[in-house]
Amino acid sequence: MAAVHRVRLGICNIYLIQGNSGYILVDAGNANREEVLFNYLGRHSISPDQIKLIVVTHVHHDHVGSLSAIKNICKCPAAVHVKEARLLQEGKFIMPHGTNLLGKTISFIGKRAAWTGFFKYSPVKPEIEITQEMNLTEFGVNGLILPTPGHTEGSVSVVLPTGEAFVGDLAVNLMGSVFPPFAQNAPEIMMSWRKLARLGVNTIFPSHGAPFGINLLKKKIDFGVKSLQPDSQPT
Ligand SMILES: [Zn+2]
Ligand SMILES: [Zn+2]
Repeated sequence: MAAVHRVRLGICNIYLIQGNSGYILVDAGNANREEVLFNYLGRHSISPDQIKLIVVTHVHHDHVGSLSAIKNICKCPAAVHVKEARLLQEGKFIMPHGTNLLGKTISFIGKRAAWTGFFKYSPVKPEIEITQEMNLTEFGVNGLILPTPGHTEGSVSVVLPTGEAFVGDLAVNLMGSVFPPFAQNAPEIMMSWRKLARLGVNTIFPSHGAPFGINLLKKKIDFGVKSLQPDSQPT
């Protein structure tokens, strides 16, 4: 397995994944937290220019807040799904619906707070717009970026062949819950979980909470396939 570093920038875990010739960074945390990353890099003797790519799992303020500042120092490209590239370029985001009472309350407040500029972040023009699975070998990492919509329509995950998946907010590990408190399309979350399970993923690295085994997701996935046979009840 590749060496992985988990660093918390604000409320968001960001992940540094070591490759053959440097690192890729998954997400960029809340705004004004870039120093936390650069201090961490300094303590581990990693120079900023060893970061070859920043993958944005989705365009929410807690994942792209320090993206502009980090990118300016690392001088590396950023990759985001094509469906969210424009939001990133305009410094905007769409507040998703709540999936539970807490999420619904925060979403309600958040939709109003968005007007006040509370979720402001510096816009970034992404160099790479993801449209489908994308191989990371050209950035020195044996792995791929996989579209995994649900939390937002352009959410992506980074998946390594050794079974680690860096999923952004497709799943969380908060107060005993793995289902994200917000989702633009909740049924799609399950479809994306299935996609990861079928790929042989074994460990989920969420942006909120500690890593956990995929069994916690599998328990919630209904793998049952309804029989296609017509009902053969005797008449
Ligand atoms: Zn999010
Ligand atoms: Zn988040």
